[in-house]
Amino acid sequence: MAEIRVENLRKEFSGFTAVQNSNFTVADGEFFVMLGPSGCGKTTTLRMIAGLELPTSGRILLGGEDVSMKRARERDIAFVFQLFALYPHMNVRKNIGFPLLSQGMAKGDIRRRVEEVAKLLRIDHILDKPVSGLAGGDRQRVALGRAIVRRPLCFLMDEPLGTLDAEFRDLMVHELRELHTRIGATTVYVTHDQLEAMSMADKIAVMNHGLIEQFGTPREIYDRPRTMYVANFMGSPPMNFLPFHAGLAVGDAEVSIRDTKIAVPAIREARAPGDLVLGVRPEHVRLDDGSGLRGSVLGAEYLGTTQIVVVATADGVVKARIGAEQTVTAGENVGLSFASQHLSLFDESSGLAVQTALFDEVAYV
Ligand code: ATP
Repeated sequence: MAEIRVENLRKEFSGFTAVQNSNFTVADGEFFVMLGPSGCGKTTTLRMIAGLELPTSGRILLGGEDVSMKRARERDIAFVFQLFALYPHMNVRKNIGFPLLSQGMAKGDIRRRVEEVAKLLRIDHILDKPVSGLAGGDRQRVALGRAIVRRPLCFLMDEPLGTLDAEFRDLMVHELRELHTRIGATTVYVTHDQLEAMSMADKIAVMNHGLIEQFGTPREIYDRPRTMYVANFMGSPPMNFLPFHAGLAVGDAEVSIRDTKIAVPAIREARAPGDLVLGVRPEHVRLDDGSGLRGSVLGAEYLGTTQIVVVATADGVVKARIGAEQTVTAGENVGLSFASQHLSLFDESSGLAVQTALFDEVAYV
């Protein structure tokens, strides 16, 4: 297994920049997820790592070796596609063993390796069945088996669970992560699904228009978004944004929205008066009769253990995730208070986070 290092990677397609100066390192054995909406450049980045697309500029190092200009087959990687093509006329055993057969491995060794992998994926009971009659989850496991059996330096996966229904997806998310823990292979995984990313990744890169907006652990990205885009992309419902106008001095630990003072993590960078945005996740909003920040309840979405209460304030709609046992009525006037230590502040024009104590001791790439 090996580290993957991407340096100033860029890809242009006839003048259109699909990937802009990407820089990141996936440590040996890490599960790395590239996350973002359709068209943000995830697949193009993955294809460049795979060697299926040549970079316009920049470098890709695999285990310290510069492979930027090497062909796909000269790089020791395995690619699992969303629409994987299994060989329909072969059974599961032959499908998994095929890459080893192509390498000229002896039959006995192939048998041993295939059975080992099938056991790992819990498909050893269907080894002699044809792939044509298999359900989606099992087909996906066969495709994974075919990738794993070669023991490559790393795995690249492009939305591998995209075609599965919700129930199988949840199961496979769990299985993939468990498999990763067992074999510890460096993995790059592409998805547009934030829940998949959060539950599987050691590190996530959130991409937007070919740019990595933030690189970090799921917790860093969720708790300390570096941009409004990331704050909005992660979380369901996403972070609430409350605009206000103010100047900030280093050490300030509160902001005012209209006449309500709101405690925030201590400011680390001074700001001339300008348009700012207070960011608060729904689970950090409380209904609080004593608060001067008030609004009218538009409705509530019951979710079993919690509910999402939608409140219209003079500064926009705020969603609060509160206990399902609390009673709220549409039209009711409620006060809102926020968990201060979790609040984010952004510059409205750049969308970048203002440095506060929230970011202390957090290193970003
Ligand atoms: P999706 O999930 O839809 O695949 P993505 O984030 O993986 O999205 P890419 O497939 O990397 O995005 O595409 C990034 C941009 O580059 C898109 O606007 C796409 O149209 C463009 N693009 C990708 N491949 C080519 C190509 N061969 N020629 C021209 N433009 C391309």
